[in-house]
Amino acid sequence: MDATQALYQTARGVLPGGVTASFRLNKALGRPLYIARGDGARLYDREGREYIDMCVSHGASLLGHNHPKIKAAVSKALELGVICSYETEAHTALARRITEMVPCAEMVRFAGSGTETVMHALRLARAATGREKIIKFEGHFHGYADALNYSVAPPLDRAGPPAAPTPRPESAGMPASDRGNILIVPFNDPEALEAAFARHGQEAAALVMEPVNYDQGCIPPQPGFLELCRELCDRYGVLLLFDEVLTAFRMAPGGAQAYYGVTPDLCVLGKAFGGGMPISAVAGKRQVMEHMRPLGDSEMSGTYLAHTTTVLAALAALEEYSRPGFYDRLDAIGERFYGGFQDIIERSGLPVRLQYVGPRFGMYFGLSEPVTNYRQAAGKDLALELKFIAGCIERGIYFHNPPHHGFSAAHTEADMDQVLEAIEGAMAEVKQ
Ligand code: PLP
Repeated sequence: MDATQALYQTARGVLPGGVTASFRLNKALGRPLYIARGDGARLYDREGREYIDMCVSHGASLLGHNHPKIKAAVSKALELGVICSYETEAHTALARRITEMVPCAEMVRFAGSGTETVMHALRLARAATGREKIIKFEGHFHGYADALNYSVAPPLDRAGPPAAPTPRPESAGMPASDRGNILIVPFNDPEALEAAFARHGQEAAALVMEPVNYDQGCIPPQPGFLELCRELCDRYGVLLLFDEVLTAFRMAPGGAQAYYGVTPDLCVLGKAFGGGMPISAVAGKRQVMEHMRPLGDSEMSGTYLAHTTTVLAALAALEEYSRPGFYDRLDAIGERFYGGFQDIIERSGLPVRLQYVGPRFGMYFGLSEPVTNYRQAAGKDLALELKFIAGCIERGIYFHNPPHHGFSAAHTEADMDQVLEAIEGAMAEVKQ
């Protein structure tokens, strides 16, 4: 047994499954990748092997690893005395910056993770409307809170009718008493959505959605679909809640709501927000946000909310995202990379559908038609994708498990050419 396998064995003795987050096990490797350090677009494992990172911390490290501005912000927070649980000028400055960048944001509250912030946003939506039901799309992921962790990847034979899916809990231990409050609708299906609103619109507090469903690879909204969501929410007095944990600052400084020009009532920001540091936010219209204590009666508090290290890092990250040309450069790299990837797919003759928005993408092995909803995405050949990923890792390109992959602002054209070369080799291996 080599030293890495021995470490994994030790880890399994003290960490359930040998990991600190269930998803951290790389299914293609059969163990986690043990990282010694990261720098720019690269990861280095404990044996000194170098990888170009196509996971980028599941989207959090949009600036790449070891970014000097993020490090300087963290150092500054250390100099200030590791202030925890107090307000500083920087907290207000960060909230103001978000209100300038994100269309729906008139007020902001910070937290640490996407899961906890979605939970608070739901409570706020229920408090603001006095209603309990939540409408969510099949295949969309919003973290692990009991109230919403339904029908993310249900087995197709137990998912219920396509137009009116059965809510399927994603974990054991979720109370059955919550189930009556959740309504599942297929994504990108205007008729099913209108039918759901006609039946339950009067009882629903919020329509919650990923504006781009990256958690099924990359499923963009069909033209007019976000507008329909907005219109139905307005008609039935339901709050439109964009879960922008993944899309925030990804394809535009104002996230998917700015990119598609549809403004929700509330949104949750995460991942790229902190440039690799753990910070998230719920932001939204003043009349909704004012339901929060101490102004209103919806509770959201916590010792570690908006730790100063993360607030300063987020301010630094937003400054980078606001630099002229930041997104043009990401788009140019993407255009070249996705074009090259598509050429390789065509040359290989394998059915693989590639879908992308901004610097994140999904690949669907075994499918060639456009993927517009979960049930289509679930038809992909996962085993083949894992074989492809194993081939890429072997060639020094780190892909984590599906669904979504991506690159950062630290990735250069030369890096992406190296990725394409590995993709070509791994694809040939998959074909055999
Ligand atoms: N919402 C979306 C759309 C996500 O992709 C994720 C995480 O992948 C979450 C919520 C949960 O965020 P976190 O992992 O920070 O708890």
